[in-house]
Amino acid sequence: MKSRWSLLLIVLLGLVFSAQVQQGKKIESVPGEFIVKWRPGVTDTSVSAMSASTVAVFPEIGVALLRQDVGIQAIQSDPRVEYVEPNYIYRASGTPNDPRFNELWGMNNTGQTGGATDADIDAPEAWDTQTGSESTLIAVIDTGVDYNHPDLAANIWTNPTEIPNNGIDDDNNNYIDDTRGWDFVNDDNDPFDDNLHGTHVAGTIGAVGNNGVGVAGVNWRVKIMPLKFLGSDGSGTLADAISAILYAANNEAQVMNNSWGGGGFSQALLDAIEYADSKGALFVAAAGNDGTDNDQSANYPSNYDAPNVIAVAAIDHTGNLAVWDLGGGGGGCGCQGCGNVVGAPGSNFGATMVDLAAPGKKILSTTPNNGYTELQGTSMATPHVAGVAGLVFSQFPGWTHVQVKERLLSTVDVSPGLQGKMVTGGRLNAQRALSGTTAAD
Ligand code: CA
Ligand code: CA
Ligand code: CA
Repeated sequence: MKSRWSLLLIVLLGLVFSAQVQQGKKIESVPGEFIVKWRPGVTDTSVSAMSASTVAVFPEIGVALLRQDVGIQAIQSDPRVEYVEPNYIYRASGTPNDPRFNELWGMNNTGQTGGATDADIDAPEAWDTQTGSESTLIAVIDTGVDYNHPDLAANIWTNPTEIPNNGIDDDNNNYIDDTRGWDFVNDDNDPFDDNLHGTHVAGTIGAVGNNGVGVAGVNWRVKIMPLKFLGSDGSGTLADAISAILYAANNEAQVMNNSWGGGGFSQALLDAIEYADSKGALFVAAAGNDGTDNDQSANYPSNYDAPNVIAVAAIDHTGNLAVWDLGGGGGGCGCQGCGNVVGAPGSNFGATMVDLAAPGKKILSTTPNNGYTELQGTSMATPHVAGVAGLVFSQFPGWTHVQVKERLLSTVDVSPGLQGKMVTGGRLNAQRALSGTTAAD
């Protein structure tokens, strides 16, 4: 009963908490409250000498909860005390307050959609360590982004060196008034999403977390750079893709999300991806939605052999490679290969050409004009990986993009259904990606 009572106290006082930072992690405790362990044999536990008062006692373990407003030192120096520690505040594992969070099976799979418990990326466990940072920049190279969406607006990048609406290219990057990315389709500075695909991708990467609104992205805080090169019909050109990649690279995006594909091999596109590599940017790409083997039938850009490319397959809520629902799902296969279905329409795979899998079916995320919907496709899996790459960059700011890639691939949950179908044979795990302190861990 006493411990229950003190738990209640923690909850009540948790509203006013103190915080300290230890090894990059915020540690919260109740101000002026300390847990004291009396030395064996101590019978006089009067605390007036410490200017403290006893709030609760736990005789089974010889411990008491004291209040001492002037600091821990008077308690610490009392010879009767074996140890003293702050009355720490604990919180349920990284669970945000966003009302639709519990629909995100890919983040935390409790079987809520009829799938397999824990077939997910372990996001709440990861969020105990890292929820993202405004210093991490992820480019969404797609149909644009609803940068006004209430669950995205706070996480949209703004170009710090461009003065808005003065008709001048202040930062000399050949784009006038590019304050929040660029629309390469219409050649203007408004990368608003007139499809829905890019906004959905952006929400998985970085819908504002724990804001009491909608969903939570993999990153609760991040900077998303909207780069529109796919039009309202979801298609775009090689030239505009190159422009978007170069823009992202030149503006120091650390991660590029590429939930698109098509075309044959392009040396120019590979050159652009390698330029991004030279600038330290990861290029995360969808493996494709044809249900085919990318080792046999190449899918671009995910098949490009560059050190910064990560090719992503999709799993469903059972943890197995996704097979698409047809005639529904609100967005079908996204922008990846719906017109080229071969065999069972599902996620592509490839023992050498696909790296890992991530959730990509019945994925709830943001849509333009304050909406939310579920979509399916490797397009939806890719931003989970781009998002976790962002968390790793936030957690380990000194790491190179190649170190981040190695970390993502070396910390998957190996799964029998995925082995032999991709390099790692496993699915993304955000918690393990953030573990340890060095890239070699
Ligand atoms: Ca400019
Ligand atoms: Ca300007
Ligand atoms: Ca939210």
